[in-house]
Amino acid sequence: MAVIGIMSAMNEELAAVLATMPDEQRVTVAGRDFRVGRWQSHAVVAVLSRIGTVAAATTATLLLERFQVDTLVFTGVAGGLGAGVRVGDVVVAQGFVQHDMDASPLFPRHEVPLYGRARFEADADLSLQLCAASQQVLGHAAQHLGANTLMAFQLDSPRVHQGLILSGDRFVSTSAESLALRRALPDALAVEMEGAAVAQVCHDYGVPFAAVRTISDRADDAAHTDFQRFIRDVASRYSLAILSQWLTCRQPVGAGLI
Ligand code: SAH
Repeated sequence: MAVIGIMSAMNEELAAVLATMPDEQRVTVAGRDFRVGRWQSHAVVAVLSRIGTVAAATTATLLLERFQVDTLVFTGVAGGLGAGVRVGDVVVAQGFVQHDMDASPLFPRHEVPLYGRARFEADADLSLQLCAASQQVLGHAAQHLGANTLMAFQLDSPRVHQGLILSGDRFVSTSAESLALRRALPDALAVEMEGAAVAQVCHDYGVPFAAVRTISDRADDAAHTDFQRFIRDVASRYSLAILSQWLTCRQPVGAGLI
């Protein structure tokens, strides 16, 4: 039976999913609570990684080693970088780069030493599936969030984007830094603090990985009016609806063999 791992950095991001997922078993390893259960007849392990690349890499490794996860999905929030990537939109990763990796002049800027690459790809099939699920959900945003929330956050026809996500151990919250990132890596759609690390771990283990991020801010001086409230009322609900839609369309591996 395939086991799906679901990760978020912060409790608020995964709150709606955890509230829905039957909590069959809770296993604590290295200070992390792994919720082992079933969601829509899929075997699922859901866990919070905490914030940053090291915390996320440790958590991903535990999911793969201890819980035999063979598909891993990250869901959470990110800062928008690409033109037209607005607060309330969703970015599905096609690939990841660690924007603060710099072993130059020994290795080219952004290249992860000894991997011969800067970019780690998301699994193409998984990303397409999550894209379709995201489009389905955002097409009915009012139904999932409520009209009041749409109005409160001025969300107007939220869109799904697919492309490059940057990760690094820094909350990007100045226009100058955001501009520098866009100049250095013009393809980037969003920036966060975990994805590239998890992608590297999944690359090492040969396990498919994908990520869905709701844009919570524009990674600039205009800090979001209420980050926590946005996550609770928008991002967390998107995560629940998108993953739920994705699982509905996904045939459990092993189903039909009995
Ligand atoms: N002010 C928040 C900060 C959390 S750190 C708090 O006190 O809780 C930000 C988290 O959201 C990270 O897990 C990261 O992956 C994501 N994120 C959202 N916007 C980001 C940005 N502009 N730069 C970097 N990470 C961002």
